[in-house]
Amino acid sequence: MNLDTTVIHAGDRPDRHYGALSVPIYQTSSFVFEDVGKTRGYDYTRSGNPTRKVLEDTIARLEGGHAGFACATGMAAIATVLHLLKAGDHVISGDDIYGGTFRLFESVMSRFGIEVSFVCLRDKAALEAAVRPNTRMIWLETPSNPLLNITDLEMVVAVAKSRHILTVLDNTFASPVFLQPVSFGIDLVVHSTTKYLNGHCDVVGGAIVTTTPELSERVGFMVNALGVGEAPFDAWLVLRGIETLPLRMERHQENSLAVARFLKEQPVVEQVYYPGLPEHPGHEIAKKQMTGFGGVVSFEVKGGLEAASNVLRRLRLFALAESLGGAASLAEHPATMSHASMSAEHRERVGIKDNLIRLSIGLEHPDDLIADLQQAL
Ligand SMILES: *Cc1c(COP(=O)(O)O)cnc(C)c1O
Repeated sequence: MNLDTTVIHAGDRPDRHYGALSVPIYQTSSFVFEDVGKTRGYDYTRSGNPTRKVLEDTIARLEGGHAGFACATGMAAIATVLHLLKAGDHVISGDDIYGGTFRLFESVMSRFGIEVSFVCLRDKAALEAAVRPNTRMIWLETPSNPLLNITDLEMVVAVAKSRHILTVLDNTFASPVFLQPVSFGIDLVVHSTTKYLNGHCDVVGGAIVTTTPELSERVGFMVNALGVGEAPFDAWLVLRGIETLPLRMERHQENSLAVARFLKEQPVVEQVYYPGLPEHPGHEIAKKQMTGFGGVVSFEVKGGLEAASNVLRRLRLFALAESLGGAASLAEHPATMSHASMSAEHRERVGIKDNLIRLSIGLEHPDDLIADLQQAL
């Protein structure tokens, strides 16, 4: 099946009892046993739920993986994957990652004896130099958040495989429509389904996709042990959102290109970050490994923090809000919002400046988005 068909038909549907075309919401904690020691496939919703299962099978199919696991939030999915590690293990992470993931590494995992090195993964020599005998995992995002840096997956996977290191990719920004990490040899894919997969800013959720029966067993055990599974109604909302994912991604991208080209021409704009622009340093690699460039555009305004704040205050269509990937366009200020949990020192090191604005380009008409930016600038 093509991806456009998979998003609508994957998983166990329509419902086998009454033929409901929409996946039923099994809003229940417990499932009645058929006999002592004999279930009908489910016993307790923390361990498994039929609504959630359709979502999990759908995401696994979209990513070309072995199994999928739907979690309460993106961070729940990320925390679950990090629980595959043990005290004494070392992780190499991209240095420009989601602020919440950075916080989890820095302030939580460190207390459990897990050490993390933040490395620029566009630099092969730096990556190889960071590998230690106890390195167990490489964590990456491409395009990264909020600077849209592109990492060469072939290069990272080659380094990891030769040293038996597990690779994990947060595919939230590209979505499986534009990037298929498993086809490059990535071992685990995670998502904040809050973003593009759900696509309507009305639920929080996360997902993990595995690539081997052994990883599926370990992740499945951990999802149940930690109790991080997605609630049935939330899973149903994400399932409904996914049906239009390929259509939405195309429009997000079209609008983003139009906005990026507009911003590039503005005298008060210092720098535009969008991998779809030919001058973006990662453009060639993005073209090679992705089938689209996504819906996030970041830019720097001349005049520092004050100028950026003024632009954010003047925007009308773009709401000043965290998150991304919804139908409605959003604008946010990474230094004080999404990446406030990253130290100022680390932000400076990776180039997240105080005058940086991140736009999540929605599905509105591009002329209206551009007109709003024009009046604000
Ligand atoms: C939002 C986000 C997360 C965290 O997801 P939540 O659903 O907010 O917990 C993780 N990674 C990336 C890239 C994100 O954008």
